[in-house]
Amino acid sequence: MSQTSEPIRDHLLRVRGLTKRYRSGEGMLEVLRGVDFDLGQGEFVAIVGQSGSGKSTLLHLMGLLDAPDGGAIHLAGERIDGLPARRRDRLRNTAIGMVFQAYHLLPELDVLENVLAPLMVRHGVLEWLRVRGEARARARELLARFGLAERLHHRPRQLSGGEMQRVAIARALIARPRVLLADEPTGNLDEATGFGILDALCELNRRDGLSIVLVTHDAAIARRADRVVRLAAGRVEESGRESAAGIRGGGSASMPRPVHSAA
Ligand code: ADP
Ligand code: MG
Repeated sequence: MSQTSEPIRDHLLRVRGLTKRYRSGEGMLEVLRGVDFDLGQGEFVAIVGQSGSGKSTLLHLMGLLDAPDGGAIHLAGERIDGLPARRRDRLRNTAIGMVFQAYHLLPELDVLENVLAPLMVRHGVLEWLRVRGEARARARELLARFGLAERLHHRPRQLSGGEMQRVAIARALIARPRVLLADEPTGNLDEATGFGILDALCELNRRDGLSIVLVTHDAAIARRADRVVRLAAGRVEESGRESAAGIRGGGSASMPRPVHSAA
């Protein structure tokens, strides 16, 4: 326990002056024109904006799936844009969890294997044999928490959309990332199922203190976040509702407990 009287609101993610443009026919399409964005430790922020406003572009840059043309991204005080490929891939595999609208599960792997895939990729064969017992236990714990204890050996095609997204969230959390980046995770789901996924994310944030950036074009979904950031004309246009809840819950998503899930 800290002895300080005020919570220290670390900026886990700090984005400054981020620019990104794409070639478009003859000219260039300026998608991000100097984006500033902060995510506090333990904070849950929604990024909204019209289709084509650059939400996915921004999230992909923060997730190191693409490189910006200008500006800087810091994670926990370390500059993470422009890293050498090995260091970047390592960070993506350990510190950053990502979830996408289309789940991106591997069809030939079962649920348990999909969740374990990031760890299998990281470790060599011998190392994997050493750590796999513990890894499997954690994967089972996460899947049980998301209501998937009875689905460990299903293939993705045997699951509903909500179930696939919960597998994808478990996979994103298996390496105990510092931050979860979710790009329209409810976009392919019916409303009730989508809210089930949102409940799971809120729970991870509130109870485990997981830091989350959620991209959505749905105002009802964004409303559940601590704070809403709007992207327009390549910049952060306005920051809405700042709640007092900067630091909450524990420190990591390391202790999964059962969670109700409707999806
Ligand atoms: P959003 O997620 O807010 O809908 P995106 O970040 O996906 O928006 O895209 C922003 C704009 O950039 C869109 O106009 C899109 O067509 C364009 N864009 C995205 N990715 C590329 C790319 N790889 N090459 C060219 N244009 C792109
Ligand atoms: Mg998008």
